[in-house]
Amino acid sequence: MGGIALEGVSKVFPGDVVAVDDVDLAVGDGEFMVLVGPSGCGKSTLLRMVAGLEGVSKGTIRIGDRDVTELAPRSRDIAMVFQNYALYPNMRVWDNLAFALKLRRTPKAAMRERVGDVAGVLGLTELIERKPGALSGGQRQRVAIGRAMVREPQAYLMDEPLSNLDAKLRVGMRAELARLHDRLGVTTIYVTHDQVEAMTLGDRVAVLRDGTVQQCETPEKLFEEPGNVFVAAFIGSPAMNLAMADVRDGRLHVAGIDVPLPDGVRHGGRVIAGIRPQDMRPDGPEDAPGAPRLRVELEVVERLGAESHVIFAVDAQKPAGEAAAAADEATEESDATLLAADNRARFTASIPGRRRFATGEVLDLIVPPEAVYLFDPETGATLR
Ligand code: ATP
Repeated sequence: MGGIALEGVSKVFPGDVVAVDDVDLAVGDGEFMVLVGPSGCGKSTLLRMVAGLEGVSKGTIRIGDRDVTELAPRSRDIAMVFQNYALYPNMRVWDNLAFALKLRRTPKAAMRERVGDVAGVLGLTELIERKPGALSGGQRQRVAIGRAMVREPQAYLMDEPLSNLDAKLRVGMRAELARLHDRLGVTTIYVTHDQVEAMTLGDRVAVLRDGTVQQCETPEKLFEEPGNVFVAAFIGSPAMNLAMADVRDGRLHVAGIDVPLPDGVRHGGRVIAGIRPQDMRPDGPEDAPGAPRLRVELEVVERLGAESHVIFAVDAQKPAGEAAAAADEATEESDATLLAADNRARFTASIPGRRRFATGEVLDLIVPPEAVYLFDPETGATLR
């Protein structure tokens, strides 16, 4: 067993398309590493280079203690699962699972044992005589994963393996994958554009943009301490609220209120301020009279059952400049923002509980100063 190490890996496609730009990444032995980012950020290309399906323009790739940069895919000791898995339609589940072992001329008894094991782990024992046409989408996906698992490779490489499944199955399979990984402990690189999948599966998550790694951290750390405005906007749902703000006299002035600067910030002038939708809450009896309150009028109310998302305009400009472009790229603008009649920033607050809010209602929201993020408007880097 062993980890995977990428050093200075780049991929330039014909026409000078830089899909991957000088990436260093070390995946530990047995680690589950997720590559996540918006469409076109280069995550699939990076995975395909590790698999050997795509040549490397520059840099080296090591799997375990071997330099595999120039090796053919079949010599790399990896197993792959893709979004469009092709099962052999004329073969029973058993033969689909055994296929790779047959190719390797595995002795019959060992093959039977291994296929039996994998089928058991994946809950396929009952279905072992069926052909793929007689399976549900989720069951087929399990066979595809099983085909990779019958071998005991140094690493699994997975590219959006769940994206063909409907939402409910996806959640179930996600949990199953996590369980499998805990059990097998095989080094895994997993590509997805879905940040919830990334956060729930990854030991660590590498966030990519334009072929570069923006930050590679544990899910908790990415959420709590995003290194820049792109990661801040990409991780978390609904996305972090962002607006232009000013730092003056040791205080942050934003949207008509001012709050003490978070610890460790020594920046002056224009900044981008951010706050997560979950961190604002309606004024309550337990709140100190001096706590900063944002008075807002609700433009949109989305009731989700156990919580509500309320969307409102704040008296602040949307972020501008390069950092804002990064934030825009990281999030899909909500309809409320697209329909807005003016240039003020729109914020979302996610409020737990079943209280009913109405469009046009005026609310006082507490803004805890310690929950505010600050970013450099030029570079997008965190100022905290
Ligand atoms: P998606 O989630 O949409 O698949 P991705 O993050 O996986 O996106 P890649 O497929 O790795 O992105 O593509 C990264 C960039 O490289 C894109 O700009 C893409 O257009 C470009 N690209 C990918 N394959 C080729 C190719 N064979 N020739 C030229 N450009 C390519």
